Amino acid sequence: MSSILSIQSITKFYGKIRALNQVTFEVPAGSVFGVLGPNGSGKTTLLGIVMDVLKASGGSYSWFGNPPSEQQRQQIGTLLETPNFYHYLSGEQNLRIAAGIKGKGESDIPRVLEIVKLTERKDSRFSTYSLGMKQRLAIASCLLGNPQVLVFDEPTNGLDPVGIAETREVIRQLAREGKTIVLASHLLDEVEKVCTHVAILQRGQLLTAGDVNEVLVNEDFIEVGAEPAQMANLQGLLAGLSGVKQVRPFEHHVQVFFGNGVMDTGELNRFCFEKGVVLNYLQLKKRSLESKFMELTEEKAKARIATAN
Ligand code: ATP
Repeated sequence: MSSILSIQSITKFYGKIRALNQVTFEVPAGSVFGVLGPNGSGKTTLLGIVMDVLKASGGSYSWFGNPPSEQQRQQIGTLLETPNFYHYLSGEQNLRIAAGIKGKGESDIPRVLEIVKLTERKDSRFSTYSLGMKQRLAIASCLLGNPQVLVFDEPTNGLDPVGIAETREVIRQLAREGKTIVLASHLLDEVEKVCTHVAILQRGQLLTAGDVNEVLVNEDFIEVGAEPAQMANLQGLLAGLSGVKQVRPFEHHVQVFFGNGVMDTGELNRFCFEKGVVLNYLQLKKRSLESKFMELTEEKAKARIATAN
């Protein structure tokens, strides 16, 4: 897959605050790319830089393999903040004004209204729209002129569950049409549901980037326990077992993670018994993506503190 956006070592200071620190990743063509991170992690700053609303303090980026230019930016539909629509005008009239400002897309209005499912309500005043409809109209405005790349900052922020579902469906539809979409989100759930790729930011630092299925893989693990006198022996045994990636004490038990698919629980039980450890607790568990995400951010934070010391 070729790269649509290449971000190379971007750093941004606001005075003494370092909002981004040498962030590097590639956005593949046709991907729905989530920039995921908690509030204040630098997502909006990064999108602002690649859309040339903000200047980076260091590093570079390129769109479509070329240095940034006004002409390229015109090929990108952006929704960085909610546009100012006229409340007393209809959805369609507002889009006509937006098309006039952009100098393109007037003939495109019926098409974009259809994509965001506002055709039936195109003649209603903007003030009568629900929040979800307002957001969909904002997306429609980005789609004027049929850009192949779309950049959205927190597209479902502030919406109710229905509005969130509607907006996500529009994003999925655009992805099916082959658009490349870059979206910032602080919601793991959102990224998991709509994105094919993800970059995780924490305090301006890139933790990891890549295919969602690789970065946020859902992992099963086994939790086992034995008499307190046997716990140290059990941990040693499990750590030496082939296929085991990590053994981690958790409350009165130990959690066993596998590199390549979880082991059969019966087999694990037999293995421990044959080695002289009788298990009094054995359970197959699912690790939620949420906890994986938390662990990822915590582990990297600890590693950074350790390096700094
Ligand atoms: P949110 O989801 O809350 O918008 P974010 O991940 O988009 O967060 P940014 O808004 O990019 O993060 O902010 C990154 C850091 O830069 C934060 O520490 C923020 O306080 C700081 N920051 C952002 N804009 C400015 C500014 N104009 N002046 C000073 N500091 C700023």
